[in-house]
Amino acid sequence: MKVLAAASEIYPLVKTGGLADVVGALPPALAALGVETRTLVPGYPAVTARLSRRAKPLAVYGDLFGGKASLKALKAEGLDLIVLEAPHLYDRHGGPYVDPTGIDWPDNFSRFAALARVAADIAAGSLKGFAPDLLHVHDWQAAMAPAYLRLTTASRVPSVVTIHNIAFQGRFPAALFPGLGLPDTAMTVDGVEYYGGVGFLKAGLQFADAITTVSPTYAEEIRTPRFGMGLEGLIGARADRLHGIVNGIDAAEWDPGADRHLAAAFGPRTLAARARNRKAVETRFGLDAGTGPIFCVISRLTWQKGMDILADVLGELVATGGRLALLGSGDAALEATFTAAAAAHPGRVGTVIGYDEGLSHLLQGGADAILIPSRFEPCGLTQLYGLRYGCVPVVSRTGGLADTVIDANEAAVTAGVATGFVHEADSADALRGAIARATRLFGDRAAWSAIQRQGMRADVSWNRSARRYARLYQMLIEGTG
Ligand code: ADP
Repeated sequence: MKVLAAASEIYPLVKTGGLADVVGALPPALAALGVETRTLVPGYPAVTARLSRRAKPLAVYGDLFGGKASLKALKAEGLDLIVLEAPHLYDRHGGPYVDPTGIDWPDNFSRFAALARVAADIAAGSLKGFAPDLLHVHDWQAAMAPAYLRLTTASRVPSVVTIHNIAFQGRFPAALFPGLGLPDTAMTVDGVEYYGGVGFLKAGLQFADAITTVSPTYAEEIRTPRFGMGLEGLIGARADRLHGIVNGIDAAEWDPGADRHLAAAFGPRTLAARARNRKAVETRFGLDAGTGPIFCVISRLTWQKGMDILADVLGELVATGGRLALLGSGDAALEATFTAAAAAHPGRVGTVIGYDEGLSHLLQGGADAILIPSRFEPCGLTQLYGLRYGCVPVVSRTGGLADTVIDANEAAVTAGVATGFVHEADSADALRGAIARATRLFGDRAAWSAIQRQGMRADVSWNRSARRYARLYQMLIEGTG
């Protein structure tokens, strides 16, 4: 089976969040099941730098949304990529979506319409020697592709759109619609029109043959106004096409037994070795030695992640003997809040503002628990890394967090199946309660290490989920999905 994937990020080449991890880890997991994936990605500088000068174009566009473009094959990091080289759209310094000052690129409409347009062309068979059986697009940046495929080609290749986070929808003014090159009839509620404008994710949900999202609970949640963010009606109408498939992790990249970012390797039977990583975390974050738990945060600092709620309960966390090591970046106000918290609680709260992949591994391998108090969380990856690394997740009951962590209530502890602490979302009191429960249990060394080991034994790999994607692909190709 041959699949064309299209996405705006792919680990380890370009990453701003969990999307990249998934797009990078799913192809190797699917390869083991006989599914060959080629992934179309924009030619950002970090991607084109990997291209050999002699790489011959697979195809050329004389004018793709205002400039010349070409497609080049690239094998990198075990991935089979098709790079959309379009310097006028992607060759610039800054992030994939924002300029160096954090403002959205003004031409994101064209940048990602181009990605989708090209994905549809390739899916329809435009490249010699590559006839995909299926098109799988990720998030709004690629979501216009199923619309192009249906409305501008005769191809019957089935398509899947995956929602990694419905908060990001790719909404643009109606005035830009003519630039898409779609028939005028597409600007309707049954087409790409969305609340009077153009909706990229909406278009994907409308035209794809199947919709997936990254956990069963999130699949339920996005059918409600609170989580669906305007798309709940369409998702409800297409509920028979909706599948919740939880993400896995790249088990080679995230292996506590062989992780170059750790001070000491460890496994479920050698948990004592974590002490060296814990020491390294204390040093790196300027934390005093202490007997209470070290909680960590590895996160975008945003409202979604409940970081303002965490800021509200920091006083109690510290007063009950806990310490906090926070790695994150995002909203300027939240960055300032946590920088100030570190100054207010020296030796108890340590803050590193920024993005640091290596340090995120050290935190998972050295902190005692990871706090994820999200208001909503489609899947979440950091709790899965936490499970694998004996860094006990303390999570809100939403989306994939609810699906992957088993709360240490009396029954679960007695049965030996607890893997973390789960609390009601969007509530400072509930978060306080969960931190207090974790702190108390941390005092019981045997009970705590049992929870760590149970988490480490949980299957958080791609095995099961990759099989679900492969089965879905197969059904769509056979016309039974
Ligand atoms: P989201 O995609 O909503 O940001 P996920 O939990 O799905 O949340 O994925 C976040 C990914 O980004 C994880 O791999 C996490 O380790 C990583 N990450 C987030 N913030 C940082 C940071 N400041 N430094 C290093 N890695 C980070």
